[in-house]
Amino acid sequence: MDAVFYDGTSARRRAVVLTITASSLDIHEGGEWVASWPVDDIRRKDAPEGILRLTRESGPDLTRLDVADPAVQAIIRQHCHRIDDHHDREPRGRIVFWSAATAVSIILSVLFLMPLLAQTLTPLIPVEAERRIGKAVDNQLHTLLGDKVCEAPEGSLALRRLTDRLSRAKGVEAALDVAVLDSKIPNAIALPGGRIYVFRALLDKAESTDEIAGVLGHEIGHVAARDGLRKMIQSGGTSYLFGLLFGDVTGGGAIVFASRYLIDSAYSREAEAAADDFAGATMVSLGRPAHPMALLLKRIEADQDGDKEEGEGNERRIPAFLLTHPVTGQRLKALEKQVPSQPGEPLLTQQEWRALKEICKTP
Ligand SMILES: [Zn+2]
Repeated sequence: MDAVFYDGTSARRRAVVLTITASSLDIHEGGEWVASWPVDDIRRKDAPEGILRLTRESGPDLTRLDVADPAVQAIIRQHCHRIDDHHDREPRGRIVFWSAATAVSIILSVLFLMPLLAQTLTPLIPVEAERRIGKAVDNQLHTLLGDKVCEAPEGSLALRRLTDRLSRAKGVEAALDVAVLDSKIPNAIALPGGRIYVFRALLDKAESTDEIAGVLGHEIGHVAARDGLRKMIQSGGTSYLFGLLFGDVTGGGAIVFASRYLIDSAYSREAEAAADDFAGATMVSLGRPAHPMALLLKRIEADQDGDKEEGEGNERRIPAFLLTHPVTGQRLKALEKQVPSQPGEPLLTQQEWRALKEICKTP
C-alpha cells in the first residue's frame, strides 16, 4: 500500500509503504521502519479532492500521510474506527456556547469578582508599593492635565499647617502630600499613597478655611481608607478582563484606563459616605463645624448650572468634583449633624488663609 509521508520537520515528500494490523498502521520507507501509529489515534484532516489525509492525534501537528489510492483508503477506513473523532470538528453550537459562557463569566467577574478582589487585595499591598503606584498615576495625571503645581512659599506653609492639623486630629499614618494644582476645574482628588490635589478653582470658590478643610478632610479620608488603591485594582483588573474580551491585553492601556477612571468617575457611594464621615469627625474633633464643605460644593454646583445656561465653552464641562462627589440632600444633612460641642480655634489665622488663597500667584 503506497502513500506519501511528511514527517512535520522537513518539507520532504517521502514515498512510503503502509501495512495495517488490527492495532497499528506501520510506515516503512525503502524497507526501513519509519513509524507506527495506533489505529485509534489516526484522524482524518481536510485534504484536496480524492486524497485521504491522515494525522496522528497526539503526534506533531504537521506530521501527515497522504493516501491517493481509493482501495488503500477503503482499507484504512475499515481499520481506523475513530478517524472522524475530531476535536476541531466540534459542533459549532458547542463553540458558540463556550465563547458566550466565557463572555458571561468575564462580565460577572467585572461586576462581582473585581470589587471583591480589590477589597481583599488592598490591605495586602505594602504601603511602599502603594506610594510607587501613586507616583505612576501622578505622572500620568500631569500628562493628562498639564497643570502646574502652585508653590507660593507662604501659601505652601499654610497648606502644610492645615494638612498637619487635620491628619493629626485622626492619627492618620499615611505620609500626606497635599498640593494645589493650577487648574480651572473645581476639583480635588486623592491618589494612592497619600498625594492629594486641590484644584485652584475649588480654592478660589472657598470663602473660609473650614470649607477647604472639610474637602481636605474628605480626601484624607479616601487616603486613610486606601480608596484610590482599591479603585485602581478594581478598574485595572476590570480593564484587563475587558482586554481579554476585546483582545487588547496591554499593560500600558490598563494604566491609562485606570488613571482616567480615577479622574472621571466616582468612588462607590459607601466610600464617599465614609470619606464624608471621616471629614466630619476630623472637623468636630478640632472643634470645627463639618457643613461648610457642603456649602462650598453647593456654591460650585450653582455656578456650574449657571454656566450651562449661558452656554460657555467646553472648559467647564470637564468632570468636576461635583460629578464625582454629587451634593445630595442626604449628604448635606449628614454633614450638618456633625457639630462640635465646643468651638475650637480657627484652623488657620486670617493671614495664613489669605496666603493659601494666593498660593497660585507668582510674586
Ligand atoms: Zn470622595
